[in-house]
Amino acid sequence: MFMKKLAFGVVALAIATVYGSMAFATDNPLHGKIIALDAGHGGGDTGATNVVNGITVTEADLNGDVVAALATKLTVRNAAVVIADRLSSRKDRVDDVLAKCAALDLNGDGTADGRKCDVLVSVHHNSASDPAHDGTLAIYNEKKDKPLAEKLLAALTPLTGRGEGLENGGYGMTVYGNLVSVITEAYYITNDCEAELYLYATGQLAGTSQSCQDSGYAIENRVDHEAQLQVDGLSNYFGSQTGGKGGRPR
Ligand SMILES: [Zn+2]
Repeated sequence: MFMKKLAFGVVALAIATVYGSMAFATDNPLHGKIIALDAGHGGGDTGATNVVNGITVTEADLNGDVVAALATKLTVRNAAVVIADRLSSRKDRVDDVLAKCAALDLNGDGTADGRKCDVLVSVHHNSASDPAHDGTLAIYNEKKDKPLAEKLLAALTPLTGRGEGLENGGYGMTVYGNLVSVITEAYYITNDCEAELYLYATGQLAGTSQSCQDSGYAIENRVDHEAQLQVDGLSNYFGSQTGGKGGRPR
């Protein structure tokens, strides 16, 4: 009798444990996902630039700061994050994250899991000749990338209030390694108010001056705000995936 009771207790505990972890995974779609991040440009390539208050703002620096903030927030949400080295070719960057994802040991057995990255997000910011222009864009290459592009675009658009939609192809990053991947252009760094807000976020400017007057933008840390919206978009994406490998339990 005692043995039977004990066995029943162990089974009940095991069921409760499995049920508990499933509930948690459902509540937090980022749990256990492997997310690769790429900060566009860098390694001598500034990307777009803007000079405000006599200070040069580079897209490469902004992209790097957003990726760093995003990596921290995703890690807090129990996602595994790898960041591409800022290599000169896009293919080299994809190869770099593929190797880093495969090398992760998430199951803790002391050996590399050999898993693929679940997604790759390449963070960029846009440029235009008009210093007042702003807007939000996402770029994808393959059909399989589109659901992620849609979720990230929807999450990021409130930053500028001006969605410029999805752009298909022409960038090439997403064709390598058959990874689900998207390039985000959350706003235009050539917009003078955006550049000032970046200087404000990084402590290079105590406040904002003329460029942001009448802009309607909140004087806020937009690096942090964008990173939070990227997290929301990724969470919405994984939360909307049903069935299949890595899908939500049903
Ligand atoms: Zn760029």
